[in-house]
Amino acid sequence: MQEKLTEDTITQEINDAIAALRDEKDSDPCEDLIRIRGVQSPAFASAAFALDIFYPYILYQDASPKLRDQIIDLLENAEAKERENIRYYHLLQALAMIGDDTAVKAIRNWQEHPRPWCEELSGGPLAHVEGAGWCVEADRTGDVSKRQLFFNACYALEKSETAAPGESVFGGTCDEICPACGCSYINVVLDGRDERLSFLELHGKIRIKYCESCVPWAQGMFCRYEEDKESTVILQDGEAGPFFDDADLNSRPPFVLSKKMVPTSYCDEFDRCAVGGRPAFLYGAGYLNCPECGRVMMHLAQLGSTWTDCGTHYIQICRDCKIAGVTYQQT
Ligand SMILES: [Zn+2]
Ligand SMILES: [Zn+2]
Repeated sequence: MQEKLTEDTITQEINDAIAALRDEKDSDPCEDLIRIRGVQSPAFASAAFALDIFYPYILYQDASPKLRDQIIDLLENAEAKERENIRYYHLLQALAMIGDDTAVKAIRNWQEHPRPWCEELSGGPLAHVEGAGWCVEADRTGDVSKRQLFFNACYALEKSETAAPGESVFGGTCDEICPACGCSYINVVLDGRDERLSFLELHGKIRIKYCESCVPWAQGMFCRYEEDKESTVILQDGEAGPFFDDADLNSRPPFVLSKKMVPTSYCDEFDRCAVGGRPAFLYGAGYLNCPECGRVMMHLAQLGSTWTDCGTHYIQICRDCKIAGVTYQQT
């Protein structure tokens, strides 16, 4: 599986991918290198910028400091009369994707001192950076800083026919019934004692409880978890989903964590499932706010169509309040 690539081979592949971007406006080869292979190069951003291509914004994540400063200058010096809001929105997203200290400082400055292109951005520019996987907030002492909204470690969730009891992350139905639709809630079980999940800094097993049937209709479903105990559903809104009996809900095969870590962009292939890493939202950043403290929740796991019958479930967490939330998106 591991490829041994020389620097020359990678350079050639980057050049070929950029040629496809330039000649055919096809970003797929660049995206594959960045997302699937984890190739980091400022050449993607430079080429995209020269071609006036902004989307997908991930092309910009490894932009050079020079290009970053160029983008900041464009946004800083935009005059009201040359307002082209969509272009500036794209530039803002590219800068958010770069997301280093200088980029964050500039965006925070425009939040305080809006430029003409900020006019139509509800909540100001900072309200539009979550798609890049971070937010800015004050900590308990009032210090304001950037906070990343996903974990840098990622393990795939794979179907397994040979999972030992208790090893499967799909925990099946539990005894509790969803009051809205009458289905049993299901549990997604993550074992904080498993060495692979040590990055979650949990001290035991958590069971994230939610209603699979209602989750597509809710803005978010939340439960309070306690290590090595059942969790308690605390909030649920939206309409009721259809009824499924326990046999249907339990027909899913066991899912286990991959032996080895996978790239954080693993879930960019939408059918995939993983714990940790970066979420691939199908449209718009779908981070929930913790119902307890109001802070933006952190991405914990993505369950794509390999797991779900349709759509994608995004599980998020606030470790301070011990609350997990589940949200849903469908193409
Ligand atoms: Zn339900
Ligand atoms: Zn919280």
